[in-house]
Amino acid sequence: MAGIESVTGTVAVEDLGFVLVHEHVVASSPGIVSSWPEVCGGRAGLIDRGVQALREARAAGVSTIVDCTTFDLGRDASLLAQVSAASGVTIVGSTGLWLDPSVTLRARSADQLAERFERDLTEGMDGTPIRAGVIKVASEARVEPFAQVVLAAAARASIATSAPIMTHTAARHRTGEQQADLLEGFGADPRRVAIGHSDDSADVDYLSRLAARGYRIAMDRLPNGALPEYGGQTVEDRVDMIVRLIERGYGDRILLSHDDPVWAGLLTDSQQVQHKVANPLGLAFVSSTVLPALRSRGVSPEVIHQLTVGNPRQWLAAR
Ligand SMILES: [Zn+2]
Repeated sequence: MAGIESVTGTVAVEDLGFVLVHEHVVASSPGIVSSWPEVCGGRAGLIDRGVQALREARAAGVSTIVDCTTFDLGRDASLLAQVSAASGVTIVGSTGLWLDPSVTLRARSADQLAERFERDLTEGMDGTPIRAGVIKVASEARVEPFAQVVLAAAARASIATSAPIMTHTAARHRTGEQQADLLEGFGADPRRVAIGHSDDSADVDYLSRLAARGYRIAMDRLPNGALPEYGGQTVEDRVDMIVRLIERGYGDRILLSHDDPVWAGLLTDSQQVQHKVANPLGLAFVSSTVLPALRSRGVSPEVIHQLTVGNPRQWLAAR
């Protein structure tokens, strides 16, 4: 593979730069923005807010974000392309499914879903020629039967296209271990699988075991330490966990991100306000807060580069 697919075309791996591996411009539900624009201030307003947020990220050193918004989260590939072009930040889009697939999607087989995912990755998403670059999957405390079907389809699409996989987990239930067992059973390559929301876990042994099996450990909710629904670990606890994993020899596994949508229509208005209060820095939080904290803990510039540039590159492009 010569490069990776972004929403504005193929990008050379060397040009990805500092990558945030799990973000969203808009996280909502399919059809909401077009059928009920008043609820979000309209599509043009969302684009303006997305451009502003990504310009701030760019000023903080970010070159690329992976937008983990699947079809069931209201994916809008052309909106992402407009936000990317106007902000100068590369956006990698996602196929796969999150926690809210419709009844029609739930009625599909693993073969059918794999075909859909592969089409998104090789031909384009939602009637556009804009191709996905990542496969997103999601499970809560237990990997429910339909989520297992989605994991089978994701593994199949990953093997067929060499696209990487990002997972959503309920980390305190160690969902990543169930996902890992299933994905490996379906033949997926652990080095191409990022176990998401891992910083919601306070269990260094759980994360170390996954890292030892080759999985990428996505520490992707870093600003949300002030919000109890994300596991109760403070930002300092999350930084400390990164340092402990590096000390155990897993600096080559860790990925960083915020998972802090520019517009989170799936949350109540008051939840969205709480997110903004917890993280007024938006997509600049990792650059402004987490990286300096890691430096003050003695993490070297080489390892910081590995976490922000080298590891995402290997996860996205296997090199
Ligand atoms: Zn997310």
